[in-house]
Amino acid sequence: MPPCLTQATPYKGFFALILIFVALEYFFNTVSDTKNAIFNSTRPLQYFDKASTSTYGPLLKSLFKNASNLRSLQEIMKSGNISDLHYLVTMPPFIASTILNNNKIMQEENSTKPLCPDISQNLYGRVQIQKYPVPSVGTLENRFASWLQPGGHWKPPNCVVEKKVAIVIPFKCRGEHLLLFLQHMHPFLKRQQLDYTIFVVEQEGDGPFNRAMLMNVGYVEALKLRKFDCFIFHDVDLLPEDDRNLYTCPEQPRHMSVAVDIFKYRLPYPAIFGGVSAISSEHFKLLNGFSNSFWGWGGEDDDMSNRIRYHHLYISRYPITIARYTMLTHKKDSPNPNRYDLLRKGQKKFDQDGLVSLSYELVMSNENLLYTWFLVKLHGPNEDTS
Ligand code: UDP
Ligand code: MN
Repeated sequence: MPPCLTQATPYKGFFALILIFVALEYFFNTVSDTKNAIFNSTRPLQYFDKASTSTYGPLLKSLFKNASNLRSLQEIMKSGNISDLHYLVTMPPFIASTILNNNKIMQEENSTKPLCPDISQNLYGRVQIQKYPVPSVGTLENRFASWLQPGGHWKPPNCVVEKKVAIVIPFKCRGEHLLLFLQHMHPFLKRQQLDYTIFVVEQEGDGPFNRAMLMNVGYVEALKLRKFDCFIFHDVDLLPEDDRNLYTCPEQPRHMSVAVDIFKYRLPYPAIFGGVSAISSEHFKLLNGFSNSFWGWGGEDDDMSNRIRYHHLYISRYPITIARYTMLTHKKDSPNPNRYDLLRKGQKKFDQDGLVSLSYELVMSNENLLYTWFLVKLHGPNEDTS
């Protein structure tokens, strides 16, 4: 046997072994990890570190080398750093095509804009509260015309905000407060670089006011217009004093109006959830919204607080130094004398009384520059709605 052959055979075998070894290692370490990571694009970036010890790990790492400060693959996709075809062609085709496809979808959705930072660079901290003079609608429309979009909507032009925010204001006969609110809030929310829309839900008629039901209506009607991720339920007379108080929905429902001037900037009681509160769309659905049973002043916010506890969620808050508000002056409504009774009985009805039993008629709706307006007739418990 020629010597070259006796030497060549183990040489080939050695290479074959290495190839098999690489293939196996690739299959067990890289494919499963990276494939999962790509299909489950919300996994954090650290996930890729796990793959870095295996064959394609370094390639993926290099691909994402400029994105080390980004949290997830989804963000990387949106950041537009995926154009590096050099790395894509060195990858197994299914990984490359998945990245390219995902990237294409993101690009179509967001036209290659990067994600906005979690915290805007434009914040001031403490802001002035202007109570006088009360501006006219025309003044506000002129002031905001260059950037505000119809329906009281704005989003940053150069970056994408993942979570869309709906601000819902229960409303009846507080025109001056509404104008002061809009004057204050539009620039405030813009500075926070949010993708937001302001909804004013006005109760029609002379019947007792039902704040909670109006908020339920705001939730239902807003979701018919757009997929909102986060709802901020907002008394019209509360103006935030610090723009570090972010109008977003965290993991848990957030009570926002922690320190209000008329309460000497102290939290009145630990379970309070009234004034301004933020709840994710998902949680609001889980909680079955607010109760529809509270007509007149008081109790509906405490019932929501009970719902939150019942569902093993908890109320989160910003520090008292940031979550500060000024309340515009108004006459105090006389409290509903039945509210404690309703609160007690409500504990057994969380699943029946709320979004599932909401009954109203949308009398009118319209998108003006400053807000989206819903005028609604609320159906009371004893009313014939046929
Ligand atoms: N509200 C309203 N018209 C009313 C009563 C209440 O628009 O006649 C709305 C408004 O958004 C207000 C919120 O419901 O800020 C809470 O009512 P109010 O300010 O009277 O409650 P309080 O500040 O006394 O807790
Ligand atoms: Mn008030």
